[in-house]
Amino acid sequence: MSDLLHADQLRGHLAVVVGAGASGRAAARLLSRLGASVRFLEKNAKAVADAFREEASEAGYDLRLGAHGPADFAGADMVVLSPGIRAAGLADCLAACPGAQVLSELELASWFVSEPMVAVTGSNGKTTTVMLVSHLLEAAGNKVFTGGNIGTPLSEYVLSGDPADVVVLEVSSFQLQLTRTFRPRVAVLLNFAPNHLDWHADLAEYLEAKLRIFAAQRPDDLAIAPEEMRDALAGRAFTKAEVVWFSGTDRFTCPRLIGAHNRQDMEAAFLAAAPFGVSEELAGKAFATFVPAPHRLQVIGEKGGVLFVDDSKATTVAAMEAAIRSFERPVRLLAGGVFKGGDLAALTPLVRERVAAVGLFGANREVFEAAWAGQVPLFHEATLEAAMTRLFAEAKPGDVVLLSPATASFDLYDGYKARGRDFQRIFAALPMNRDAGERT
Ligand code: ADP
Repeated sequence: MSDLLHADQLRGHLAVVVGAGASGRAAARLLSRLGASVRFLEKNAKAVADAFREEASEAGYDLRLGAHGPADFAGADMVVLSPGIRAAGLADCLAACPGAQVLSELELASWFVSEPMVAVTGSNGKTTTVMLVSHLLEAAGNKVFTGGNIGTPLSEYVLSGDPADVVVLEVSSFQLQLTRTFRPRVAVLLNFAPNHLDWHADLAEYLEAKLRIFAAQRPDDLAIAPEEMRDALAGRAFTKAEVVWFSGTDRFTCPRLIGAHNRQDMEAAFLAAAPFGVSEELAGKAFATFVPAPHRLQVIGEKGGVLFVDDSKATTVAAMEAAIRSFERPVRLLAGGVFKGGDLAALTPLVRERVAAVGLFGANREVFEAAWAGQVPLFHEATLEAAMTRLFAEAKPGDVVLLSPATASFDLYDGYKARGRDFQRIFAALPMNRDAGERT
């Protein structure tokens, strides 16, 4: 790794970094370490912390805050775009540096990684699967770096000078769209469901971006893709790697991972870890001790015989569907917030079969009402607390109150974690049984 980094590599080159998120900041550090001149653009001055202003000044970045235009791109040899920034939306600006390579932080950092990389993408289950892969690799004695879209950007790994045996990365379609040579030894496409359509031009573009995870792989690499996409990908030369199609099996269980979708994630994780010395037997033992990240179908506890489950991370319709399917017991569903797209109407048969009542809260009630009103008992409250209290009052022992909102949380919260923490706070404050609550 570090022997690939030379301080003079980009001497005399101008790199423009757009967007001061974690990956943009890490890219700037790496570019600076390589000797490039860094021009850093961030249109939202408030998003830039004082600590970063100081760092930028010490490192000698040309920090430009506020709206940017073509002049800010003039002379660039390289443009690193942060996730969420569309190259298409910057056409005028990029015309000012016609020879520049436009890339993502992932592509840039990957040039300096010589250790094998396992990369995971998909619409749902990336974080869980990445954590599962790392857990299995560590169980087999590997030193693992886990990062990318979760936690530490790959550039920070490169700069750390502390090589791992295997680098495990969660990669988003935003990052993949601007890769050219990024070549994971093992690449996993978990699933593909409409998501982020507000950002990607259309479904075809979104699939194209996801498939880029396989594009630079070679015949001795491994491409892991879902069986359910085999027909859709037939006849498409999406990779030169050996392709393994996976689907959920019953061979692994993890007490903390509920539902058929998690069996798919476990299967994909095992197949991804297997080339690094993880046997089926070892995987079986390691899965038993796995602790998932919070707010993903996390069982919080029971009150009055009613189970409470926090799936605040379910920001898509597919994740909500997976959650509803995970319970035999009647579901009282908490949903609502900033809807990102997806086909709620297609879920109507499942909702009629499994969901006893829907408590909507916050924004975009109209989207849910359009799909489900008249099909299932449904009400709306302004807050999660009001909707949850009402669902609990109506619940019967044996039911599950499930927060699986199929939305982003920004109408009421700073993010899904804050929404999930609020669910857990409200749970703790509820009376131990509903009768007590009604009496007080
Ligand atoms: P991501 O990183 O892709 O957002 P997470 O592992 O954080 O994925 O899980 C996000 C949500 O998706 C959770 O609600 C989780 O239960 C659900 N989920 C996990 N795996 C799958 C899957 N294979 N299919 C559908 N939903 C899934």
